[in-house]
Order: sequence, then structure tokens, then C-alpha cells
Amino acid sequence: MASDTPDTPDQLYSAREPVFPRRVNGFFRSLKWWIMGITLGIYYLTPWIRWDRGPNLPDQAVLIDMAGRRFFFFWIEIWPHEFYFVAGLLIMAGLGLFLFTSALGRVWCGYACPQTVWTDLFVLVERWIEGDRNARVRLWKQKWNAEKIRKYAFKWVVWFLIALATGGAWVFYFADAPTLLHGLLTFTAPSVAYGTVLVLTLTTFAFGGFAREQMCIYACPWPRIQAAMMDEDTITIGYREWRGEPRGKGKEREGLGDCIDCNACFNVCPMGIDIRDGQQLACITCGLCIDACDDMMDKVGKPRGLIDYLALKDEAEERVAGKPVHHVAKHVFRPRTILYFVLWAAVGVALVVALFVRSDMQITLRPERNPVYVMESDGSIRNTYELGIRNMHGEMRPFYVSLGENSTLDIEVQGTEGTVVEAPADEETKVRVYVTAPAGSPEAGTDRTPIRIWVTDGESGDRTSRDTVFNGTGQ
Ligand code: SF4
Ligand code: SF4
Repeated sequence: MASDTPDTPDQLYSAREPVFPRRVNGFFRSLKWWIMGITLGIYYLTPWIRWDRGPNLPDQAVLIDMAGRRFFFFWIEIWPHEFYFVAGLLIMAGLGLFLFTSALGRVWCGYACPQTVWTDLFVLVERWIEGDRNARVRLWKQKWNAEKIRKYAFKWVVWFLIALATGGAWVFYFADAPTLLHGLLTFTAPSVAYGTVLVLTLTTFAFGGFAREQMCIYACPWPRIQAAMMDEDTITIGYREWRGEPRGKGKEREGLGDCIDCNACFNVCPMGIDIRDGQQLACITCGLCIDACDDMMDKVGKPRGLIDYLALKDEAEERVAGKPVHHVAKHVFRPRTILYFVLWAAVGVALVVALFVRSDMQITLRPERNPVYVMESDGSIRNTYELGIRNMHGEMRPFYVSLGENSTLDIEVQGTEGTVVEAPADEETKVRVYVTAPAGSPEAGTDRTPIRIWVTDGESGDRTSRDTVFNGTGQ
């Protein structure tokens, strides 16, 4: 609906204006290139790293083995009953995000979020094929012709190949990578692998190539949560309005601030926002506008830092002083961030301790209740238990089953000579254990006698036990 007043938009919902960020050089752009290279390298190459665990275990360094219900991470092997390690890592990741957001704003979004990293990569391809900002805008606005079809088709093909590699790399974390790659190429891989690759390829293609900043602004809940965690102490990207305004072009600077209104900060912004309008939900604090503005300040002979990492709390002090103040330590080290760090470190230390003190065997013990005891022909009383021994080593091992010292009861394991259980590697072995009280012994006539059953690793000598009860006749 057309509007009569200049302040009212013509439409309530306007169509999206594509963002064509201009090329920029500088410290933060270089930092982002490095982080992109490292994170993409880790993602694509990790499944191909080999790690020798012996003959019975997979040699892939990082593997989420769904069929074997195991997670392998280099020398660490996480079993389903140790899922608390995964939960602990997720808690650490959450607390880490709280910590970084409180201290440094949306630093995760600006540098390491997959959406940011892949969008950066897709924009790099776009710039390589179509040229810098002005050329891309011109191409986008012009009618379809041979040049536009050729460049767009080439760009989409390269985007698709990147997306395919991205989707393909993901499935390699869930199976032996060389075997799965061979299966995918020879059309013998499981259909779920093809389905996963297809879904991830299409989402990467769409999110990185077309949705881009809209994912951050509309689809991701994290900006809303982060907004609640940031305050005036948070170090974030800001425009020094006291220094830049009133902005204006031209060499005659009388009565004007340092902003030459060149729009470089806006033109390089991957989110399509103008930081001079103040703090905005869409800003991912990538720092590219700092690089662009610093470059301009160098050209006009003004000090850098018109746009900078700063804390809003310092603005009043800076305005009075007429120069930037940097109380970084005061803003970063405050009760909230220290609390987050202490919690984060506590969970981390607890996980490391748990990792090093965990036993390489796990046992379970379940008394049979039907019947609770059996009286043998010689008058002795026998109880039966189901003992589970999980051998978490990579080779078969003997485990010795015994009762606590000083016990007058007898113990034996069904189907074995004596009380030794040969437990295969990386499996849980279940055996029946018989505990017998001789006729006339105190335990035979006692209703419930507490007992302890021990299991000893025959090679390492490590021991673990479970408490249970021995049921007698009670007479
Ligand atoms: S305003 Fe600056 S820091 Fe924020 S997203 Fe745009 S370029 Fe990055
Ligand atoms: S890049 Fe700096 S000088 Fe240019 S418009 Fe932005 S704030 Fe002003």
C-alpha cells in the first residue's frame, strides 16, 4: 500500500536486498581467513586420520560407531554407559559460549560458527567468479544474458561441489572413511549415507549460498540468547560517535567529525548493516568494518579506531576525555565472567579426572530371585547371581571372581574351571555365579547376609566389587 508520509514504509514487509560484501584487507580479515582454514581443515581431514588401537578395534582416530555403540576419539573410547563425558563436553561448550559472549560478545558468530565460515567461503567463490562488490551488484541487477548465465552457472557448480564435500565429510565421521568413500563411489553404501549426504549438501548449498545472513538474523536463536548475556561491559564492535559525528564528505572538515561518510564499513559488512546506527542484533562482531574504517583513516591521515572493539560503558569517559580508553581487563575479568570460567574449568577438571581414574572394566551383579535360594541334597544353601563383566580392553582377558576375605562361603562360576572368566575384548560377558553356604553354617540359617563379590583383572590386577546379600533359610 502506498504511503503518504515520508516516515512510513511503503510495505510492511520488504523483499530481501541481497548483500554483496566488498573485499577488505586488514588484521581481522586475516584472522578470519586463518580461522576459516583451520576449522575447514579440521572438519574435512579429521575422518582420514588413522589411529592404531590393535587388531579388534577401528583404526579411525575420530569415529562415532553407531553399530558398535562406541565413540572413539584418538586414545579415548567412550562407551554408552559413559555418556556423561559427552554430556560434560556439551555443558562445557555451553558455558564456554556464555563466557565468551559475556566477555567478547558474538565472537563465536563472527569467527567460528559454521554458518559464518561456509558463507565466507561461498562469498570468496562468488567474488572470484563475478568480481568485487560493484561488479556483483551490476551483474545481479542486469537482465539474464549469456554472461550472467555463464557466471551464475559456474558459481552454482562450485558452490554445489563445496556443499557436496561438506555433506560427504560429515558421514565419514560415522563409518570407516576409506571404506565408506569406496561404497559411495560404487553405489554400494547404505541408503542412509546417501540420504544424509543429500540433505547436508542441499542445506549447505542453500544456507551458505542464498540464505547467508538471514540464517543469523531470522533462523538462529543464539542472537536472542546472546543479547540477554551481553551488557555494557561486554567488549563488542562499536562506532565512536563522539569522534565521528557529524559525519561528512569532502576535504573541508571544519565542524565535521572524523567520519568521511565513505560507506566502506557498510559495504564490507556481511550482514548488510551500518554499525554507525548503533548496536544491532544482526551484528556478528566479525571486525571487518574495523579493517575497512582503519584503512580509510590511514588514507585521510586520522588515527585508527573510529570503529573498534570497545565496551559501551566507556563511552561517556571517552567523550569527556576526547580519546579512546581501553579498560579491557576490567571489562573482561568481572564476577560474571569469572563465575562462568570457574564453572567451565570445574566441569573440565572433573571430566579429566574421571577420564584418568575410570576403570577399564565395568561389572554388574543381579541376584536371581526365583527362587532366592536352593537347598542342595547335602543341606547346603546355594544362591545364584548374574554377573556381567565389560572388558574395555582391546584384547581378551581373564577375570577372577572371588568373595571378600574371611568369607566362609564358596563361590564358583558356571561353565568354568574355578572362578576365572575369559572375557572377549570390547564386549560385555554375562555369567552365572553360584555362592554356597555349607549346611549348618551361620549364613545358611540367616535370612539375609551381606556379602561382597570381587572381580580382579588377571593381567593388570585391578579390582572392583559389588555388594549384595546371601539369602539363607532364616531358621
Ligand atoms: S557491523 Fe561490522 S562487525 Fe558487525 S557484522 Fe557488520 S562488519 Fe561485522
Ligand atoms: S568506514 Fe569509517 S569513515 Fe567510512 S563511513 Fe564507516 S565509519 Fe565513516
